[in-house]
Amino acid sequence: MCGVFGVTGHKDAARLTYLGLYALQHRGEESAGIVTYDGKRTRSHQGMGLVGDIFGEGSLRSLRGSIAVGHVRYSTTGSSLERNVQPFLVNHKRGHIAIAHNGNFTNTIELRESLEEKGSIFQTTMDSEVIVHFLAQSKIKDYQQKVIEALKSLEGAYSLVMMLDNVLIGARDPHGFRPLCLGKLEGAYVLASETCALDLIQAEYVREVEPGEIVFIQNKTIESIKPFPKRKHSFCIFEYIYFSRPDSNIFGKNVYLTRKRLGAQLAKESPVECDLVMPIPDSGSYAAIGFAEKSKFPFEIGMIRNHYVGRTFIQPSQLIRDFKVRVKLNPIKDVIKGKRLAIVEDSIVRGTTSRARVRTIRQTGAKKIHMRISCPPIKSPCFYGIDFPTKKELIAAKHTVKEIKEFMGLDSLKYLSLEGMLKSMLLPACEFCTACFSGKYPTEKPKKFSKKILEKKR
Ligand code: SF4
Repeated sequence: MCGVFGVTGHKDAARLTYLGLYALQHRGEESAGIVTYDGKRTRSHQGMGLVGDIFGEGSLRSLRGSIAVGHVRYSTTGSSLERNVQPFLVNHKRGHIAIAHNGNFTNTIELRESLEEKGSIFQTTMDSEVIVHFLAQSKIKDYQQKVIEALKSLEGAYSLVMMLDNVLIGARDPHGFRPLCLGKLEGAYVLASETCALDLIQAEYVREVEPGEIVFIQNKTIESIKPFPKRKHSFCIFEYIYFSRPDSNIFGKNVYLTRKRLGAQLAKESPVECDLVMPIPDSGSYAAIGFAEKSKFPFEIGMIRNHYVGRTFIQPSQLIRDFKVRVKLNPIKDVIKGKRLAIVEDSIVRGTTSRARVRTIRQTGAKKIHMRISCPPIKSPCFYGIDFPTKKELIAAKHTVKEIKEFMGLDSLKYLSLEGMLKSMLLPACEFCTACFSGKYPTEKPKKFSKKILEKKR
């Protein structure tokens, strides 16, 4: 996952992008960057870490220009290295190109190999770099045709915000895996992964960038084209379950309300006698509210999250992940002790994080621990931008629900059904990708897909 943001036609483009990235921080905590263009030259400031740590008054003042693109990163392909920080910027004789990408191409390795055969030398291990090479090699004069040509060979997931000199470009793959929305502020256009970024800068929401659409924004005017053949929509359902912020509307529908509906459906499918319903904060909180409302058991916050540590799942190194689990959540003994708990969690990926939490709750004195998960078991890898790429890492791919229950030391464990999850959505079921749950991929599976292959190619 990553967050992308872009603005053009505003004197405070860099500052707005900084604020936009701040709102999108949950989509990637490894690195962040902003590129601006003032009509003559590009300027870039990037670094590893959180947005608030990377940018200061001085760096924002130096990022001159009325067009800016920004990115927060969490690595899926390409490891967590400084050279992989986005936006990816190239200044060459045919112009200035900056690209911020959310998603994963499924044919990156084939594209890289064919570009390398033609003489391209790659600077990073990121899949997004192939677009830059296509644009730089193109002999096409018309910039819109050049972009279409560069994007047409891409397969898989992309929500892109690009800068081509003074043109801001937003593009979404024909399946529409990842969200991208369009907003307006004082006549200037804004592109963002989620609407929470528009809210923060008080921009008006205009609409979604549609699947397969490319928008070109220049001098406060916007042109839209849909040059690719139509594909079946495959919005990532996991955006609603875990990734997106609850105050965002993604794919046109609100995340908070959807999570509550998931929880209510879960209570309907897998009720349990308990003294209280308790979320694993924060992402389990909204489904837990729905679960409690539906089951009519009291809702309590039994664990307090330390907000000064990041979300565990999106940390790339196991060492850091384990450390953060321990410091992140603290149980409230007086709430938990002697109680029969229904704990609502949004998902289980590897199982190690949830197991550590259950152990802590048990040690605090809970009488019974029933866990309810607001999505089905995750059994298959994602090739579209979520960091669970191999079956080996997914506990539900190798173990039954009963085995997982025992591994975690639970009194009961139930997942939401696939049908129940789809029924809880505010959009028709046919609009979604559910491949990590159902194993039914909306695209051909990549023939070659591995972080390691890309790393070895360096
Ligand atoms: S496989 Fe799962 S995580 Fe990946 S895009 Fe599809 S629904 Fe989202």
